[in-house]
Amino acid sequence: MGEKIFSDFRSDTVTKPTRKMRLAMANAEVGDDVFGDDPTVKKLEELGAEKIGKEASLFVPSGTMGNSIAVKVWTKELEEIIVEERSHIYNMESTHIAFISRVIPRPLPSRRGAMDPELVEKAIRKPALHIPGTSLICIENTHNYWGGAVVPIDNFRAMREIADKHGLKIHLDGARIFNASISSGVPVKEYTKYVDSVMFCLSKGLSAPIGSLLAGSKEFIEKARRIRKLLGGGMRQVGVIAAAGIISLTEMIDRLAEDHNRAKRLAEGICNLPGIELDPKDVETNIIFLKFNHPRISIQEFLNKLKEKGILALGLAGRIRLVTHKDINDEDVEKTIKAFKEILKY
Ligand SMILES: *Cc1c(COP(=O)(O)O)cnc(C)c1O
Repeated sequence: MGEKIFSDFRSDTVTKPTRKMRLAMANAEVGDDVFGDDPTVKKLEELGAEKIGKEASLFVPSGTMGNSIAVKVWTKELEEIIVEERSHIYNMESTHIAFISRVIPRPLPSRRGAMDPELVEKAIRKPALHIPGTSLICIENTHNYWGGAVVPIDNFRAMREIADKHGLKIHLDGARIFNASISSGVPVKEYTKYVDSVMFCLSKGLSAPIGSLLAGSKEFIEKARRIRKLLGGGMRQVGVIAAAGIISLTEMIDRLAEDHNRAKRLAEGICNLPGIELDPKDVETNIIFLKFNHPRISIQEFLNKLKEKGILALGLAGRIRLVTHKDINDEDVEKTIKAFKEILKY
């Protein structure tokens, strides 16, 4: 499995499968999953549904496909969906909203990912000659571009009330919903009971090499299965991959707390350095999003200098993202704090 060359903070998607995952993959019982014959996939989907608190779940190749399917199931073309303005679904996936579902996104501002219920209710539109009707509200938790912020459970409750009042559905982009739960102490099922569907990633902090699950009612998942097929997401002996996902759900959830502690430690170690704008209080989970504004060093120069010291981070429009995960240990964190100090303090 080779020696670690870089401390890679770019994303929790860089996590490598564990030894146990590799063994489970090698030994997985498989069948043709398009025919419903793969016992390992079935086991993963049942386990996923149980853990997330929904009737059924569907294994999909990526989070993006899970979100695309959900939007497609819950909408008809020429409708409108309410999204948070910094959300992944709006900023990184809006092409599927337009291209696959042919609906319009209605982005709304938020407080660290939690949209104001009053603004949401005001934004809901009834269809008319010139106007698309609103059919779906999307929530993201944890919120990636708000630095891994946890959207409070009260906000879920408020969104549910509004959705019920106006006959809308709610989809949760829960790529990192287990991080939210571990950080807040609110059980995952408590969040998901307020939403009609949820997508969560196995391939991020949970360390599986590939895959996400989309969960909801049995009826929802039946429709989702058809859409997955037409998008080209029907996979065959995919138990080979699902086997790793089972270990994600049975062994990799509780350890997310370590990632959160390391992100906090890293944030505290670098927040007072020149050029860094960051409040460690805002680091609730495994993502640090800091503003970089140094009089002499550009972001790109800084990232290059980090790389020379064996550290990878992601630069995004004046900001730097650092994500902790299974393959980042205490040593990586201390090495990175030291590197930040050396580069920024001359
Ligand atoms: C990563 C991510 C996705 C998409 O997952 P992919 O597997 O990369 O397609 C969706 N939403 C959020 C918030 C994410 O961080």
